[in-house]
Amino acid sequence: MQDRPDQSQRRFDTVLIANRGEIALRIQRACHALGLKTVAVCSEADRDALYGQSADVLLCIGPAAATKSYLNKDALLLAARLSGAGAVHPGYGFLSENAAFSAAVEEAGLVFVGPDASAIATMGDKIAAKSAMMAAGVPCVPGPDQELPNDPAAIRKIATEIGYPVIIKAAGGGGGRGMRVVANETALEEAVTLTREEARKAFGSPALYMEKFLQHPRHIEIQVLCDTHGNAVWLGHRDCSMQRRHQKVVEEAPAPGIADDLIDAVGSACVAACKQIGYRGVGTFEFLYEGGAFYFIEMNTRLQVEHPVTEMTSGVDIVQAQLKVALGETLTITQENIRCVGHSIECRINAEDPTTFMPSAGVITGLRLPSGVGIRVDSHVFEGYRISPYYDSLVAKLIVHGETRAEAIARMRGALAELSIEGIATNLPLLRTLLEDQGFARGETDIHYLEKWLKERSAA
Ligand code: ADP
Repeated sequence: MQDRPDQSQRRFDTVLIANRGEIALRIQRACHALGLKTVAVCSEADRDALYGQSADVLLCIGPAAATKSYLNKDALLLAARLSGAGAVHPGYGFLSENAAFSAAVEEAGLVFVGPDASAIATMGDKIAAKSAMMAAGVPCVPGPDQELPNDPAAIRKIATEIGYPVIIKAAGGGGGRGMRVVANETALEEAVTLTREEARKAFGSPALYMEKFLQHPRHIEIQVLCDTHGNAVWLGHRDCSMQRRHQKVVEEAPAPGIADDLIDAVGSACVAACKQIGYRGVGTFEFLYEGGAFYFIEMNTRLQVEHPVTEMTSGVDIVQAQLKVALGETLTITQENIRCVGHSIECRINAEDPTTFMPSAGVITGLRLPSGVGIRVDSHVFEGYRISPYYDSLVAKLIVHGETRAEAIARMRGALAELSIEGIATNLPLLRTLLEDQGFARGETDIHYLEKWLKERSAA
């Protein structure tokens, strides 16, 4: 009763899910569990999708190309109006961090399940984000929270003050693009010119900034959850260092081997920052961690692919919590009540060749999913499902939980052995070998570990 006092008084009772694939299904489950109806949208390529079959309403919003469907703001808003949806959940990717979309949804009188447009815009501008974080006492990478000037001498002075190597980054950059590492002064001017040109073309703004390039950091992130009544909590931390081309492949919670008092201080700083900027909904603070210190790099203002590892350890259903915040409810959990228990690991199962990484489209002709204690599979695929070449290659997220990290690794090995997907190529063979790696088992990874491991294997 406490959870749902009077459903007729709710801010909305129907949610349009502006996404596809596993996350559309994940959001739909959370909506139904809260007694909310769902409107699913699909492109012509996704007409047979599972999330569409279990939705209360399914609307086709355009052709396969994402720019004409899942990225088409007008089509999504029209679908919301026609279906009577009262809220829009953007999921991850697509329009989830698009400030203009958040604004358009709210201007249409609907609730955007995420932060307001100004928070998205601030965090989308890396210089503005860094400024806000420095002001809130969140530790940042050494380097000014200011746009690089044009004068080469002034740029050289900034680099000398920071100390080489430095990294030049586009303020509007994303997806690991718009960055260049500079080893010494000789290479500086050309690097700035090239990055500025790239930034202008790719992100529509030539604004750059500079910071210290950390050589062997780990990627650690903090999950936050904030309501609209001034309450904010952090739900523990994750390690997402296992990346290839800046794409996360294996994620885990908690990040192994970090002292509690150190991480508690960073978590508290993140919560303080959220309160200071009046942040609402879920978000992730991403840090590089090196030499026992944390350095903020960016904030993601949306649900993340890897949120399940935090759900498995904290026991909090992050998507339900996100929807409750959007409904205007007050957080019922307090920081003192959050107890992260055990260890969780997620492997991203992608439809791609395990050696060349070429995407693999086609029909899944056979599928056997693992099950048992501490095993969760978040996926939208089934036997007979056609993997479309139009979208990202994520087929399933395999998530395990164990009392200890060693138990979680053992459980993941078993689950990967049980999982079988036929008809398309997947990265399963690679993940199986990776989970046997002793360096990973010892928690000795950094953000370069996986690429180095792949290179050594291909040379052998
Ligand atoms: P994006 O928004 O494009 O993902 P980020 O700022 O999150 O950009 O950086 C992406 C990745 O680039 C990081 O995960 C890290 O691997 C690398 N990177 C960014 N800044 C630094 C830095 N100062 N030192 C070392 N590596 C960095």
